[in-house]
Amino acid sequence: MEYFLTEQQKTIKSLARRIAEERILPVRAELDEKEEFPGSIVKDLADADMFRVFLPEEYEGLGGGCLDLCLVIEELSRVCSGVGVTYAASALGSLPLLEYGTEEQKQKYLPDIASGKKLAAFALTESTAGSDASAIKTTADKQDGGYVLNGTKQFITNGGEAELYTVIVLTDKKKGARGASAFLVEKDTPGFSFGRKERKMGIRTSSTRELIFRNCLVPKENIIGKEGMGFIITMRVFDRSRPGIGAQAVGLGQGALEAAVGYAQQRVQFGHPIIALPVVQNMLANMAIEVEAARALVYAIAKTIDSGAKKFTEESAMAKVFASDMAMKVATDAVQIFGGVGYMKDYPVEKMMRDAKIMQIYEGTNEVLRTAIAIELRKRKAMRE
Ligand SMILES: Cc1cc2nc3c(=O)[nH]c(=O)nc-3n(C[C@H](O)[C@H](O)[C@H](O)COP(=O)(O)OP(=O)(O)OC[C@H]3O[C@@H](n4cnc5c(N)ncnc54)[C@H](O)[C@@H]3O)c2cc1C
Repeated sequence: MEYFLTEQQKTIKSLARRIAEERILPVRAELDEKEEFPGSIVKDLADADMFRVFLPEEYEGLGGGCLDLCLVIEELSRVCSGVGVTYAASALGSLPLLEYGTEEQKQKYLPDIASGKKLAAFALTESTAGSDASAIKTTADKQDGGYVLNGTKQFITNGGEAELYTVIVLTDKKKGARGASAFLVEKDTPGFSFGRKERKMGIRTSSTRELIFRNCLVPKENIIGKEGMGFIITMRVFDRSRPGIGAQAVGLGQGALEAAVGYAQQRVQFGHPIIALPVVQNMLANMAIEVEAARALVYAIAKTIDSGAKKFTEESAMAKVFASDMAMKVATDAVQIFGGVGYMKDYPVEKMMRDAKIMQIYEGTNEVLRTAIAIELRKRKAMRE
């Protein structure tokens, strides 16, 4: 389908595809098997200016936006969603700074994020606070010159690999959700260390780790926005980042579809390639329809965001939910078309099926997001009455 991308977006997309084909494809199975962080691929992406695409020119970015970011995430995830999320999580970690940071903070940190010299990460989740983010317990106590952080964050993408962390903590325990604030924490800050590295079902090349804060003094200049804005920043940032999860899902779906078409053309049973079977054609056609529908939705919301729209919470959630459900279904159907070998690690669809699952879980589970969409529908109906 023609999406009327700009010349710059077309260039970005084709460059991301080339890196995925030439640098990720040959090693994706090994990275997955060894649960190895894709450090050299991150460097390739940095050298190709891929971390610059969504950042403004004044911070050494290329001046693009959400769609440019989605195009890169999609192309990387078409080959390996683990690399896709490593790249996407750095953008997520830098979005609070980009949207709510001071000029000094932006000048200090964003150029190194843009060059890919530093990866970023976003830390909200704790063992007692997943969907219910308001249950976080990590605290930041105000002291002379700064805030002292204590607590543990869980399941943080790019944990241990990122140099810069946006961390959501409580500056006022009594106020609950309204007492949360966002801080920038540099990797080598005394009192900040890394705990368990998770062993995962999918996206295994990405690093998912605990962050541990023990009397970690963070300068007062590192607060993003004001005290009490932590959850507002989180929600607004997720509105902007969820299309990126949608793009991850579209890339995975595209990769699974292509693999399934290729296999169906060469696998012969009963004297004919299985692609001649109407039931297989039907599955492939449905997969193609679903991938394209998800892509259209993700690109549409990304363009809406880039056009300066003010409110897009539900639409952004819809893109994430629709695309991630599509990816899970398309990857499962791809395994079905491969038959027995689809279940083996020798073929890529086994990994794709494992990788797809997380997209229905992180950045808000699809159940929680559906609930949020339904609440909004009820509100809109009540307003009409
Ligand atoms: C690989 C990986 C990477 C991650 N990366 C990051 C990261 O970089 N930064 C970060 O902060 N977090 C990260 N997370 C955390 C992730 O966002 C959470 O796991 C997710 O939000 C769900 O929280 P939970 O795991 O505690 O599940 P729970 O909240 O315990 O949910 C369990 C089940 O209950 C359902 N449920 C809970 N509440 C409701 C509700 N109100 N309505 C309907 N259903 C509900 C859920 O949908 C789910 O099915 C990551 C997680 C994983 C696994």
